[in-house]
Amino acid sequence: MLAINCHVSTNVLSVYEVPFNRPFQSGNEQAYLSKALETGTLAGDGPATQFVQGYCKKTFGFPHFWLTPSCTQALEMAAILTNAEPGDEIIIPSYTFVSTANAFVIRGAKPVFADSLPEHPNVDPEHIASLITDKTKAIVVVHYAGMGCDMTAINQLAERHHLLVIEDAAQCTFASYKGEYLGGIGHFGAISYHETKNIHCGEGGALIVRDEAFAGRAEIIREKGTNRSAFLRGEVDKYSWVDIGSSYLPSELNAAFLQAQLESAERVTERRKKLWSRYHEELKEVEKVGVERPTVPEGADHNGHIYYLTCRDGEQRNELIRRLAEAGIQATFHYQALHDSPYYRKHHNGGQLPNAERFTDTLVRLPLYYDLLEDEVGRVCETVKEILK
Ligand SMILES: *Cc1c(COP(=O)(O)O)cnc(C)c1O
Repeated sequence: MLAINCHVSTNVLSVYEVPFNRPFQSGNEQAYLSKALETGTLAGDGPATQFVQGYCKKTFGFPHFWLTPSCTQALEMAAILTNAEPGDEIIIPSYTFVSTANAFVIRGAKPVFADSLPEHPNVDPEHIASLITDKTKAIVVVHYAGMGCDMTAINQLAERHHLLVIEDAAQCTFASYKGEYLGGIGHFGAISYHETKNIHCGEGGALIVRDEAFAGRAEIIREKGTNRSAFLRGEVDKYSWVDIGSSYLPSELNAAFLQAQLESAERVTERRKKLWSRYHEELKEVEKVGVERPTVPEGADHNGHIYYLTCRDGEQRNELIRRLAEAGIQATFHYQALHDSPYYRKHHNGGQLPNAERFTDTLVRLPLYYDLLEDEVGRVCETVKEILK
């Protein structure tokens, strides 16, 4: 079995007839890359970056949006903007990728892990409420499979206790909650353009900042703690070291590649949602043998990022993955609950997070990508049903 937590990439040499993922290419990437090469300067914040940032602000209604080299680094920026420091507690879902927690841990803050909902990998707002103490500084949510968490409940909790809300919206391009695009609903949002996501530039990400009050500082943190951006706009007459920061700008090559992808993002989303629905329809009968199909949370409009099943137990899940592999189909599990990871186990307070543990053991993701054929979805479904019979 593949011992990979999140980033399952497959190349053309894949031994699987139906691989788990094939990174999307629109066909215009080369043209945009050539255009970037012609400008002669490839460092960050050139014309392609400006275009993509402007496009995303307009299309998604994000007030402040900056490209970053990865979602991981956007989360690190969010942790700096949160002023997360030793003594602070940050409530984070256990069922997520390591970057969600690491961003805060490297600043010395303590992650307090929250459980998933019983029926969905997304975090349980009631469990979050029970974890809030006078040390809590922020709540981090992860919208699993591009399906929005209950942001109404979470923002209410945050307001009541004066907490910041960070959305790990890594999987969420074009996904929304009650009509608002994910990533722009909390104080800070982080998006990923890693090649395993719906649209990508190999490695890439973005930070979204909702409130004007944090925007100036975000720009400085992204520019190594300098006011270079204000200098380039002519607002200050020299640029200086004014805060902590790092190098959070991607090269123009990444932005140019992403520009080509974004132009096709709507068509990619439609296609993925169509294939998602086909899976959902054809796999109805697996529920008869105790395997669950995903439920879409109320208010969430997802983007077809992941089609997953939850098996009866770990044994059934592992057997399903193994037998699909024998049939040339690459299916894969997902996150290993962070509270029970080799790094964190010794720090965890011992509290059980039964839902996160159940998704760790039983969740399986089926192949889903733009170029997947409907016949291939049909074949995967037939094979799954045959195995589970
Ligand atoms: C993919 C992913 C990340 C990491 O994104 P990178 O761009 O590779 O840093 C973080 N969180 C979640 C939920 C993800 O799915």
